[in-house]
Amino acid sequence: MRYSGFRVLKEALSGHKGWRPLWRSPDPQPAYDIVIVGGGGHGLATAYYLAREFRQHRIAVIEKGWIGGGNVGRNTTIIRSNYLLDGNEPFYEYSLKLWEGLEQELNYNAMVSQRGIVNLFHSDAQRDAYIRRGNAMILHGADAELLDLAALRREYPFVDFDNARFPIKGGLAQRRGGTVRHDAVAWGYARAADALGVDIIQNCQVTGFRIENGRCLGVETARGHIGAGKVGVAVAGSSSRVMAQAGLRLPIESHVLQAFVSEGLKPVLPGVITFGAGHFYCSQSDKGGLVFGGDLDGYNSYAQRGNLPVIEDVAEGGMALFPGLGRVRLLRAWGGVMDMSMDGSPIIDRTPVEQLYFNGGWCYGGFKATPAAGMCFAHLLATDSPHPTATAYRLDRFARGFMIDEKGMGAQPNLH
Ligand SMILES: Cc1cc2nc3c(=O)[nH]c(=O)nc-3n(C[C@H](O)[C@H](O)[C@H](O)COP(=O)(O)OP(=O)(O)OC[C@H]3O[C@@H](n4cnc5c(N)ncnc54)[C@H](O)[C@@H]3O)c2cc1C
Repeated sequence: MRYSGFRVLKEALSGHKGWRPLWRSPDPQPAYDIVIVGGGGHGLATAYYLAREFRQHRIAVIEKGWIGGGNVGRNTTIIRSNYLLDGNEPFYEYSLKLWEGLEQELNYNAMVSQRGIVNLFHSDAQRDAYIRRGNAMILHGADAELLDLAALRREYPFVDFDNARFPIKGGLAQRRGGTVRHDAVAWGYARAADALGVDIIQNCQVTGFRIENGRCLGVETARGHIGAGKVGVAVAGSSSRVMAQAGLRLPIESHVLQAFVSEGLKPVLPGVITFGAGHFYCSQSDKGGLVFGGDLDGYNSYAQRGNLPVIEDVAEGGMALFPGLGRVRLLRAWGGVMDMSMDGSPIIDRTPVEQLYFNGGWCYGGFKATPAAGMCFAHLLATDSPHPTATAYRLDRFARGFMIDEKGMGAQPNLH
């Protein structure tokens, strides 16, 4: 079924009886050419691009819960490509370009909104670092703009510029950054992949891998064995646990990250804004709620909920930026499990087990990566060679010393 204005009108006039489910619920087949473990944004995008771009057939996505229940439906919806390092910037810029045409391609309204993102700076040294990052972005074909105080005051009048402790000196803007409705991305990719014949199997946990002579022959699941020519794993926060079932130990820790939504307000924030003197980022949803977040909870966990100290820390960051909004009430908060890598950058690579491939280590930046991660993982699965924008995301870079340490934090996953 194609979605269009005409279709909405037709259904409105005929009692909405013609809408169909977005995807089928097939029983698993005994074997597929390619099995993707994990039905988050990355797994679904991979399946979609495998079918559409690389003309692969007999593909299944195996999801232990429901579509949209993982981090793809739990994040703070920010997309951007404001990275510094050569290993990262071309990949994230490619992703932003894919976001720009995504809704037309999927025929699905994912509410891609390029409302812009501004990173505030509060010192001369921070300004210099942001100028350097902006120049790196421009050199890779992305857009970056340095905003002075007057421009910021015009665009963000509700911000406390003269806070005695954290005076704002300016900001680095990326106008093409913005937000996307997170779970709609999962639904859009799932619908489009299903239409191309991909089997999406929900409520079916992968419990092991069948490996013989160093070669992966399929997965064991709650619904029995499923054979596979190739297996791609994209399970985000569960990466270490799932790959341990294949005997692999990853350079990844799992940490909790929380997200928050306030009650609905009249428009106060035109775009995404990040605080430079602490960890706080915020945008306003189309319904009016402020959507915001901050640091990880700081300890290893697989719980999809966080604790009060971080809520207090995030609220303090918010108060430093918008003291005028101090009485706004918090409506909802939740947590997701982040696959934090040792250098803060992701992995899209083959593994030491033949025909077993891995996509993970997205830390808390994997939502913006969804289209490119899907395309690059599909490229790797279909051609056995890395996509040109993802050549740095090697699993063995930690052993070989080729870290992509965007923040310069060292091997300290909880600080990336
Ligand atoms: C609070 C929060 C805020 C964030 N904010 C942003 C942001 O603003 N911008 C940004 O770019 N990124 C953000 N992120 C990060 C981003 O959401 C993730 O990096 C990204 O969604 C991970 O990829 P995914 O969508 O495939 O993950 P998921 O949706 O988590 O998909 C993985 C799937 O694998 C399934 N799975 C796990 N184990 C198994 C198994 N054994 N068998 C079968 N299936 C299994 C899970 O059920 C899950 O559905 C945020 C994350 C959180 C939690």
